[in-house]
This record gives sequence, C-alpha cells and structure tokens, in this order.
Amino acid sequence: MTTPAFDHNLYAGCAAQIIAHTRELAARGFTPATAGNFSIRMGPEHAAITISGKDKGRLTEADIMVVNMANEPVATHHRPSAEAALHTHLYRRYPGVGAVLHTHSPTQTIAGLLFADAGRVRLRGYELFKALHGHTTHEAEVDLPVVPNSQDMDALTASVDAALTAPNSWGYLIAGHGLYAWGRDISEARRHLDAFEFMLGCELEMRRLRVSGDGGS
Ligand SMILES: [Zn+2]
Repeated sequence: MTTPAFDHNLYAGCAAQIIAHTRELAARGFTPATAGNFSIRMGPEHAAITISGKDKGRLTEADIMVVNMANEPVATHHRPSAEAALHTHLYRRYPGVGAVLHTHSPTQTIAGLLFADAGRVRLRGYELFKALHGHTTHEAEVDLPVVPNSQDMDALTASVDAALTAPNSWGYLIAGHGLYAWGRDISEARRHLDAFEFMLGCELEMRRLRVSGDGGS
C-alpha cells in the first residue's frame, strides 16, 4: 500500500468526536438496529469512519476505522461498510467537507418515501435556512434532493452525484432509507442534520394537517 500512515493523535481526536455525536443521535432514535454511518475527514488522504454493524449508542474507539479516499481500509483488519463509499464520494467531490453524518430517523425515512417521485423536497420560507452554511434568509426555496435507494453502491453514488446540482448543498435523502448531511466540520454537519430533521418533520406535519405548500409540489 502506498498510502502514507495516518496520524494516530488526529485519529483519536476524530474518533472521540464521532463517538460523542453518534451517542447523542442514537439516543434520539436516529440509528435504529445499528443503522447509520459517521465520519470525519483526517486530511486530503484519509477519513475516520464508523465500522458497520455496531450499536451506535455504545461505540468505542475500536469501532472507528480509517479509510482512504478510494474507500479502502488503512492499517486495519476491518472492512468499511458498503455505505462508506457515499462518505468518500462527498469528500472527493467537495474538498471543503470535513464531516459526514448519515442517520435513519423515522422522519427522514418517511420523507424519502413520500417525496421519492418528486426527486426532491422543496422547502420554503423556513427561518432555519439560516442554519445552513451559505444561506442568509428565510425568503428562499431550498431543494433537498431525494435519490432512489439501491444496494448497488456505484449506482447509488452516481444518482447522488447527479442530484447534487445546487450550490451550498448540505444534504440529501435516500428514499425509504435516511439522510446524509455534511459540513465543514462535525459541529456544522450536526447543525445541518438537525435543521433538515426539523424542517422535514414540519413538512410531514403539514401533510398530516393537509396544509398546502408541501415539498413535492
Ligand atoms: Zn444507511
């Protein structure tokens, strides 16, 4: 392997941040049945990322592995989860992205199914747009892309790549599956995740109340 070894102190710091955020998100029910993946960029070459199949409320440093940007494991016997490819895709596509959070909350899962045909959730008029980096006003429309789910990671990555057309895109939904959200660091990624979760919850509530202005129109 020609990839240089990673910085272990940097890795330990990233792992601690991932574990702290992942525990909080697990406590909110966003990672049912071990679902979800969480990562932090460690530089141009590497990312620290959760291994698959672990209870996300009980992670330890041993549950965080390192991959290179080709999604290959680095200095570990662990294999990255299939969805790690979606994390490294974002790191390759956006050099400024420092962290990626992927959750499966009920709201995210349902919204992905409801708006799958539209291919996006059109959000309008939310004060919380200002929580999204690069957005300064509620007087806007923000489209959150929705891509079809697939177990073929190459196909899924291609769908995502084609859907990310807007500037300052900080998330997408996978239909029936969950949300990917990212930011320049993990705190920003978390803020973006929380903002999307809140706005999607409002969209679903408006549907329940049969209020017009739904995201699929
Ligand atoms: Zn997933």
